[in-house]
Amino acid sequence: MLTVEEALEAILGRTRVLPEERVPLLAARNRILAEEVFADSDVPPFDNSAVDGYAVRAADTRGAGPERPVVLVVKEEILAGAPPKVAIGPGTAARIMTGAPLPSGADAIVMVEDTQPGENGAVRIREEARAGQHVRRAGEDMPQGTRALRPGSPIRPAEIALLATLGRAHIRTYRQARVAVISTGDEVIEIEEGAPPPPGKIRNSNRYALAALVEEAGAVVHAATHIPDDPEATEAVLRECARAGVDAIVTAGGVSVGDRDYVKPALEKLGTLALWRVAMRPGKPLAFGSIAHTLFFGLPGNPVSAMVTFELFVRPALGKMMGREAAHLARPRVVATVLEAVPHTPGRREYVRAVTRVQEGRFVTRPTGEQGSGILRSMALANSLLIIPTESPGLAAGESAQVLLLEAPGA
Ligand code: AMP
Ligand code: MG
Repeated sequence: MLTVEEALEAILGRTRVLPEERVPLLAARNRILAEEVFADSDVPPFDNSAVDGYAVRAADTRGAGPERPVVLVVKEEILAGAPPKVAIGPGTAARIMTGAPLPSGADAIVMVEDTQPGENGAVRIREEARAGQHVRRAGEDMPQGTRALRPGSPIRPAEIALLATLGRAHIRTYRQARVAVISTGDEVIEIEEGAPPPPGKIRNSNRYALAALVEEAGAVVHAATHIPDDPEATEAVLRECARAGVDAIVTAGGVSVGDRDYVKPALEKLGTLALWRVAMRPGKPLAFGSIAHTLFFGLPGNPVSAMVTFELFVRPALGKMMGREAAHLARPRVVATVLEAVPHTPGRREYVRAVTRVQEGRFVTRPTGEQGSGILRSMALANSLLIIPTESPGLAAGESAQVLLLEAPGA
């Protein structure tokens, strides 16, 4: 049996980065940038005011204070979006709004809170201004030619804002992976609201869990289907998905050594099996390989095993396909103090569903309950997976352990 690291290395070694494509700015969110982005002009493009106030010559305000205000003649009002009409000469000022261009001659802004209206439209400046104060200089964010973003950057709302500021209505990113999701099993039925499953049947959860995980990973669900435990049906669906040119097929169930487990044989017939079985709990049976250019992930059928193996193997592979850098393929790992004893049977590395949070500046973690590979409730309560080393006899309360964070922990 392979270790988790060996399996992941084998998977990533067979995973190719998808081609680039040019997409509208907002469609680029959650994708990875595929080009270098430079500032086409200064940002901001012109000197402007950071506050509502008065544009002045700093020299004119020397010695000003609340008791000895300096009186300046107000020449005009400059609104955001309109160019100033007059220059500021000695003894004069202009009313100016946030974001409005600095008039020539002025070199500082006095906040409106530090002024009072004077007579005949003049203004009383109650504070000495320092040259440059409250002025946003052209190019202070990015001078023209600055390398603003590099390829490989995840495109978050902040990158979207930056790209918009740089006038990029379209942007080159890596293509999203298209993934077929297939659940299996004669005992599995489609969900029907208000109708409990008939005897011997269970509702399909994997199809929905895997589709949600694919979307959360930033990929696109090409199709989510269910197949009965039937060798012909299994082969037909896998062949069809590969022919449709999906980038990956993710199945759940039918990959073990049961009498009616047809997924692995179908993969071996249509493509190649690169690895099978990983020394981990939950989720030992894992069949990875390819059918033509389509990567194949045969995940175990137990609902929690399917989700945990997706997390450890499918998510990093999809990330690599979509241009994510090697250092950012896995979720963050932290060291946490275990708040209660966690039992473990040596032999396989265990991923325990846990709640991890920050307590007095340190991570603490606690299992969320029953850890059977079909227990969905402890998965839904968890925000992390507590890692128990293969040969560990179990963890005692107070011991430290590594934790994989599935989401940012709360306090
Ligand atoms: P298998 O790997 O096919 O032997 O399935 C292992 C366990 O997971 C069995 O108890 C199945 O009933 C269950 N299971 C398989 N597929 C699903 C599914 N789509 N939704 C919920 N449970 C499933
Ligand atoms: Mg089955």
